[in-house]
Amino acid sequence: MQITFLGTAAANAYPEAFCKCENCQKARVLGEKSLRKRSAALINDDLLIDLGPDIMTASQTHNTPLTNVRYCLQTHPHADHLDLSHLLSRSPGFGVKGAPRLQFYASSATLERADQTFSRDLSGYGLFDSEAEEKLNLQIHQIEPLQPFALGSYHVVAFPANHASGFGALLYAIEKDGRSIFYGTDTATFFEEVWQAFHQHRMRFDLAVLDQTYGPDEPGGDHLSAHQVIEHMKRLREEGILKEDGRVFVTHIAHEGNPVHPELEEFASQYGYEVAYDGLRITV
Ligand SMILES: [Zn+2]
Ligand SMILES: [Zn+2]
Ligand SMILES: [Zn+2]
Repeated sequence: MQITFLGTAAANAYPEAFCKCENCQKARVLGEKSLRKRSAALINDDLLIDLGPDIMTASQTHNTPLTNVRYCLQTHPHADHLDLSHLLSRSPGFGVKGAPRLQFYASSATLERADQTFSRDLSGYGLFDSEAEEKLNLQIHQIEPLQPFALGSYHVVAFPANHASGFGALLYAIEKDGRSIFYGTDTATFFEEVWQAFHQHRMRFDLAVLDQTYGPDEPGGDHLSAHQVIEHMKRLREEGILKEDGRVFVTHIAHEGNPVHPELEEFASQYGYEVAYDGLRITV
């Protein structure tokens, strides 16, 4: 299985366009891996995680067409993860011919909010209206946390995120051909229920992607900090949830407390994890 990071920044991108903080200024000078778009990821070429606001730019910048995307797993409805205008722009009415029908998966709370926003701001109809399926070349699926389901040949389990209470935010484990990737943003420290569920569902990750919104000198909040990432990684390894040669990458990196990529990479390497960057492609 392959994962491509389409974006690795927190809500305000990195550099944040309006910001003159030291980190943003440095990132502008360094460019390359220090330039981060809002978080989203692609599994192989057919499974998108989050219909994020920057996926068009990511597709162009990292030579990653999304033409074969058949499935989308939506983490939650925050604007840095969900830009519903993509549903229109990829539709036949906007000239997109022959795209596979998008199978869009999200929690009921996420779907409810998406439906409201879509009908209020973008169209005269809702996502659940009968015309939506044809007009948008789309099929909506509501998912429940901790209920495994199949997406073609992928096996997926969603876990409740400790984030944005009431929004039905989800973290995802995706397995195919004996390989397993965990995509864990946005979330604060995992609920104990999630740790128990990892064991119940016999999770053995080859790669775990964790939320590092907050940097090495910051406390956590509604997201993880660098030191909380380290604690989570330790527990994943100690409890055998991460395979012995399993790798941990962080994403959703905010400009306020995280230094530019080379410095953050150096910090992470001391603790045995890695820092994702936009366009990074990993095969597990
Ligand atoms: Zn976010
Ligand atoms: Zn800044
Ligand atoms: Zn969020």
